[in-house]
Amino acid sequence: MSNYQEILKRYWGYDDFRGIQRDIIESIGAGHDTLGLMPTGGGKSITFQVPAMAKEGVCIVITPLIALMKDQVHHLRQLDIQAAAIYSGMQHDNVMRTLENCILGNTKILYVSPERLGSSLFQTKLRHMQVSFITVDEAHCISQWGYDFRPSYLEIANIRNIHPNVPVLALTATATPQVVDDICAKLSTASAGFGSPESTSASGETGCHTGKHGFSVFRMSFERKNLAYLVHYAPDKYGELVRLLDGTPGSAIVYVRSRRHAREIAEHLSNAGLSATFYHAGLDHADKDRRQRDWQHDRTRIMVATNAFGMGIDKPDVRLVIHYDSPDSLEAYFQEAGRAGRDGQPARAILLFNGSDSGKLSKRIDDTFPPREYIKEVYEHLAYYYQIATGDGYGVNREFNIEEFCQRFHHFPVRVHSALQILMRAGYLDYDEESDNEARVHFLVSRDELYRLEQVTPVEERVIVALLRNYGGLFADYGYIDESIITQQAGVPQPVVYDILKALSLRHLISFIPRKQVPYIRYLQRREDKEHVQLPRAIYEDRQEQYRKRILAMTNYAQTTDRCRSRMLLEYFGEDTTKDCGQCDVCLREQGQLVTPANQHDACQQILAMLSDRQRHHITELYRLQLPAEALNTALKVLMENEKIRQDDGFLMIV
Ligand SMILES: [Zn+2]
Repeated sequence: MSNYQEILKRYWGYDDFRGIQRDIIESIGAGHDTLGLMPTGGGKSITFQVPAMAKEGVCIVITPLIALMKDQVHHLRQLDIQAAAIYSGMQHDNVMRTLENCILGNTKILYVSPERLGSSLFQTKLRHMQVSFITVDEAHCISQWGYDFRPSYLEIANIRNIHPNVPVLALTATATPQVVDDICAKLSTASAGFGSPESTSASGETGCHTGKHGFSVFRMSFERKNLAYLVHYAPDKYGELVRLLDGTPGSAIVYVRSRRHAREIAEHLSNAGLSATFYHAGLDHADKDRRQRDWQHDRTRIMVATNAFGMGIDKPDVRLVIHYDSPDSLEAYFQEAGRAGRDGQPARAILLFNGSDSGKLSKRIDDTFPPREYIKEVYEHLAYYYQIATGDGYGVNREFNIEEFCQRFHHFPVRVHSALQILMRAGYLDYDEESDNEARVHFLVSRDELYRLEQVTPVEERVIVALLRNYGGLFADYGYIDESIITQQAGVPQPVVYDILKALSLRHLISFIPRKQVPYIRYLQRREDKEHVQLPRAIYEDRQEQYRKRILAMTNYAQTTDRCRSRMLLEYFGEDTTKDCGQCDVCLREQGQLVTPANQHDACQQILAMLSDRQRHHITELYRLQLPAEALNTALKVLMENEKIRQDDGFLMIV
């Protein structure tokens, strides 16, 4: 048994690695720069956590997903692994303590959000750390050609210069061949002292090749055999949505573009008697948590959401993902669709498309790249908004209320948002839409008064005690608190902690400012006159061209009717496949298997035949019948509606 395998067994309890995990671990373990392409659910985190435990020093993990990072730290600590995280919105003391611990060698894995990399505090402390290797999660974010470029990722090159001999492990669940090359180029150090590694042997459905810039590249197949991709031409999208949801038992996600749409559609579905809720970035934390948990635990069946929903969510039994609106790219589509069927059981991803959609998609190009003059105007209005004179403003960091700004200067939010993104890429400012402000508490009564209070319930008391035990100085002033710590110590669920803090606040015992995400704008340069604002080709025309190509690929996917959908998606990600999937709408149509009255009748007969022994059959047994998913689902629905069969807790039986 290898050392890695022992670690895997000891901490995670697994006997062996899956897929390309071992190849990646051995490559990074041997000190090679490594890129792993693994679809979500491929067991990505094991590939850095295991070698981090095997090697001396601390493994730095760069990831943009703060919620995910907190979750992983929590999980690792439960496994008795020393892990920590630093991210935006964290208190200075806390950051210091965390970094000092890393220098002292007390930490094995340190998660860092990319915005933190540029800070001089972080870079200074990093110099004194013994670093085992650097993991770059969501590595496609470093590519300007990618669909999710984040300028803060470029800072990783500087981090490498601090420790030039420390290898890098880049991980992504989505990258086209062009982006793969770009990731390797951006992450390579010219002075890398470890020669080009030998190519490792490829096994099974996995493969490795030595990519450009000395990286060993390991790719896992992105094929999802249990997931059927379908495009439904739907002049009446809403009607089709209800029909699909009605006919498919189990958990579902419906993706829409706008927050308003998310709310309205969820309301409509509820009115139609379906169990639905909604989710978008504008909801407060407690509300988001509650909605997500209800869905996760099947208290709500359908989640209607914007693309803010899904990152780091791992619900295995999602049976259906419907896109009511088309995303901007096949990368985004593949990621979102891929949230269906993680348990390996049959699932479907359906894109609803109609005649007006291709027009809407091409309009997004203009919305995402407004004219240069317009961008400069937004830049100038921003200076009026904050009252910053020409030559001033360097380092100014203010809250940004986009609605208020648009009202005052007569702009449309979509375009302002795009203009700010472009100004950010041009280095004028930083626009952080999800800056995370931790919750704050200040006691308004004295300690003595607090102890004399009579109308405090035992649960409230536990919360108060947990606050006092963990945070000093709350009687004097506001202090940041971490609700999850209070949750743990008081032994009450987080939503209850939140409700108690609210209630204490209403009674004027404390003042409570909930944790919230507030957009911020920070000036990275002194304010220029608008005619001097430079928007280079690389960040305007070149990116616009890339965006146009992505929109075109998305439109092609939706409009093509003679090529297997799974094949189209895999080819887009550079994977050659020889077989059609046999279950997408194109394949089904070719096989004559799209639902017709005839094959639906046949499906009904087969289901009834299976249940004729009058035993309870688990719903998954139906898949043995190998019926086309569409016909199976319609047949099930018809049989249940006509009370020929009934379903109870996942089991079917004849009535
Ligand atoms: Zn197909």
